[in-house]
Amino acid sequence: MRVITIANQKGGVGKTTTAINLATALAAIGRRTLLVDLDPQGNASTGLGVEKDMRDRSSYDVILGHATVAESAMPTVVPNLTLVPSTLDLLGVEMEIASANERAYRLRDALHRHSVDARPAEQFDFVLVDCPPSLNLLTINAMAAADAILVPLQCEFFALEGLSQLLETVEQVRDTLNPALALHGIVLTMYDGRNNLAEQVVADVRTYMGDHVYDTVIPRNVRVSEAPSFGKPAILYDMKCPGSQAYIRLASEVIQREREMLAA
Ligand code: ADP
Ligand code: MG
Repeated sequence: MRVITIANQKGGVGKTTTAINLATALAAIGRRTLLVDLDPQGNASTGLGVEKDMRDRSSYDVILGHATVAESAMPTVVPNLTLVPSTLDLLGVEMEIASANERAYRLRDALHRHSVDARPAEQFDFVLVDCPPSLNLLTINAMAAADAILVPLQCEFFALEGLSQLLETVEQVRDTLNPALALHGIVLTMYDGRNNLAEQVVADVRTYMGDHVYDTVIPRNVRVSEAPSFGKPAILYDMKCPGSQAYIRLASEVIQREREMLAA
């Protein structure tokens, strides 16, 4: 089981869209995939067709130890893709476990317990964690639980702003909670070819971050933004659209990097 956390403390950069579509692409090629929605907004849950009234147990229960991963997990519109949904209760988590020991390891321990306890048919090859737009305790839990972190960056003027703070946090987590945490990669999202600035941003990010940046750039594509309102990943809603095709390519890059990371 490999855990990949999708994080960026900026909102609206494509975390949830990446989580949903990368998870779908991995599931479609036969990887048993779990998406953990750690954002109180619950956009990943909605985008996978799990409406609020369908969410019984949630990632809140997992973090608080009220339920196991298996008890909270539910099927989605995508075969092979399971979801631990989020609920607004997550907003209170910081206060509720403020004084508890091991507060950063709640998710890691729950996932570990799952990999030990669950029957073979309930195991996962990939766990993707969709983070809230902040560097709060939920994101720290997601980083402490992860083998690697995947960072979506929107192709806009301020793309690199905030990245150094994010990478510093990754460094701190490595120093204290999770020495094995790797940077899986940076994916540029919402690329608009008609915008000259976007080209410059891609070049700048590649200059600063080098090989960390995936070759695949996700284009801005209206089909991708429409899909969640139908409760479907873009890849199910319109597999042929450029955005879906890009996410399918990203999934093969992710698998390729996984091979390289495991071989290293
Ligand atoms: P985050 O989770 O980082 O807040 P989202 O994935 O929710 O970001 O994306 C923010 C908004 O941008 C959403 O409305 C989403 O539908 C839209 N969006 C994301 N990626 C694309 C894309 N490739 N093309 C068009 N719209 C996109
Ligand atoms: Mg989101």
